[in-house]
Amino acid sequence: MIVDAHVHLYPPEVAADPAAWGARAGERHWSELCTRRRRDGRPVQEFPSVEGLLRAMDAAGVGRAWLLGWYWEHAANAERQNRFYADCVRAHGDRLAAFGTVQPAAGPEAVRDEIARIRDAGLVGLGELSPHTQLGGIAGAGLAATLELAGAFGLPVNLHVTDPAGKAYPGRVETPPEDFARLAEQYPKTQFVLAHWGGRIGAIRPEVVARPNVWVDTAASPLLYPDAAWPDLLRACGGGERVLFGSDYPLVLYPRQESSAELGRLVAAARAGGAGDAVLHGNAARLLATARAGATSR
Ligand SMILES: [Zn+2]
Repeated sequence: MIVDAHVHLYPPEVAADPAAWGARAGERHWSELCTRRRRDGRPVQEFPSVEGLLRAMDAAGVGRAWLLGWYWEHAANAERQNRFYADCVRAHGDRLAAFGTVQPAAGPEAVRDEIARIRDAGLVGLGELSPHTQLGGIAGAGLAATLELAGAFGLPVNLHVTDPAGKAYPGRVETPPEDFARLAEQYPKTQFVLAHWGGRIGAIRPEVVARPNVWVDTAASPLLYPDAAWPDLLRACGGGERVLFGSDYPLVLYPRQESSAELGRLVAAARAGGAGDAVLHGNAARLLATARAGATSR
């Protein structure tokens, strides 16, 4: 069984007309990224329904997927996506789990209320968050409350990370590796998943991925690194003990070969690059169990 630990879906009113919704909802950063087109005019991503996701999973032999929220600038949009994800999980609990999302800049009290609702709705984590994009930064009181409560409730936290040496693209936000080192140290009871291979943090700051509360996912890998780099990327993360297979679907992952978002090529690339059962599903289960075992309030 393969678990895709990094997938994004959007409520129907968002998916129906992403550009118009983004403008209406005041989500400038999301609009810039999600409505982008390639030089040949094709969109960088699609906006499938939950049924579309399930079909893509079936086609690639992916048994389960984790729906990740977005780092919304407005708390109301985070809440809307959380409600939508709760519905998806209620309808398809055999195939889907979901992470809830918050806007830390809304402040500690607002964040605590929403995380309690996220937990009560049966969602299993928080993220994808990007404190560097959502204002407030890594020192904000709202982020502190988020990370503390995530640890207490046993909810792992997925964070968006960019590679300091990565190529520039419109909407790219710098996320200094030192910041993740500091967060992982400051909140030892919170399990962190650093998305997108942690921006190669395993090679840049090996002591960070050596921490037992730091995990890494492979989201968007083909858009960032050649498939031939998988063995090196895994090696830099301690051989893959805490690496989770994730796609970033519905991004079109191989725009030269694919006309629409699919998962099969990435599964094949991961296997060819040395990802075994642990990366493809075992570590995902272990992450949730580790987070739950560390929970102090339920
Ligand atoms: Zn991301």
